[in-house]
Amino acid sequence: MFDSIISLFEINFIFRIFTLFVLGLCVGSFLNVVVYRLPIILQKTWRNQCVEVLGNECQLDIDNSKFNLSYPSSHCPQCKSKIPAWTNIPIIGFILLRGKCINCKSKISFRYPIVELLTSILFALVGYHFTDIWVMTGSLIYIGIMLSLMLIDLDTFLLPDELTLPLLWIGLLFNLHGAISGSLINSVVGAMLGYMILWSLYWCFKLITKKEGMGYGDFKILAAIGAWLGWQNLVSVLLVSSCLGVVYAIFLRLTGKLEQGNPIPFGPFLGGAGIVTLLFANYLFPTIIIS
Ligand SMILES: [Zn+2]
Repeated sequence: MFDSIISLFEINFIFRIFTLFVLGLCVGSFLNVVVYRLPIILQKTWRNQCVEVLGNECQLDIDNSKFNLSYPSSHCPQCKSKIPAWTNIPIIGFILLRGKCINCKSKISFRYPIVELLTSILFALVGYHFTDIWVMTGSLIYIGIMLSLMLIDLDTFLLPDELTLPLLWIGLLFNLHGAISGSLINSVVGAMLGYMILWSLYWCFKLITKKEGMGYGDFKILAAIGAWLGWQNLVSVLLVSSCLGVVYAIFLRLTGKLEQGNPIPFGPFLGGAGIVTLLFANYLFPTIIIS
């Protein structure tokens, strides 16, 4: 039974794309939760650790209130009313509600359905490019974690170790036999070089300008990308991410949304370039091989 579904998945193009598209909608919906809640969970953990270390030196108490990925259940940020389960159906719920809370009619951010749609399109693209079940599974995990990192960095300038480090070691795991990067050596060297390139740039920039141009999270993301795609693809990732970042910064400056000296997060561009390179490297840079 399971074997026949797997082989149907590998052989039947329409079945594969459709299943991955629907799966993408559900995963996208879950990513919206992770992106909103994980930074709050981390802030709370760090605050409690500070209180523990400082003890009587600070006047704060440990916050024992329960908050995790599943609790409290979804509610409207404005009126705090619970959201009925059917409105959680990806995209369809948003359309039926016409983008407004069922209770207080306050607007629901367009970002939620956009993230769901983007995830499902990327998942479908994985099904378009790959047929091997192992490579597909790995690519879906890679894209899911990468999207959460990109959105969290965009919102909070954080790239949590809780996501970057698993992304790195899961990348090594999926490439034990070089399924995506070609060989384990490509992956190990990729992880090392990815970290070192940005680490060196960071220190050169800091010694010359006395400013911090990046964060350590950026090194870890590029290390993870190196682990997944192999060191050969780091050039493409760096090129694409720098171009995207520069275009975005110019756009923000021209529209007056970015003042001089204000930082923009680099993680979304690294992550975006990492996804583009996984899916399109063979078209962008024909000499670089992804098996
Ligand atoms: Zn409401």
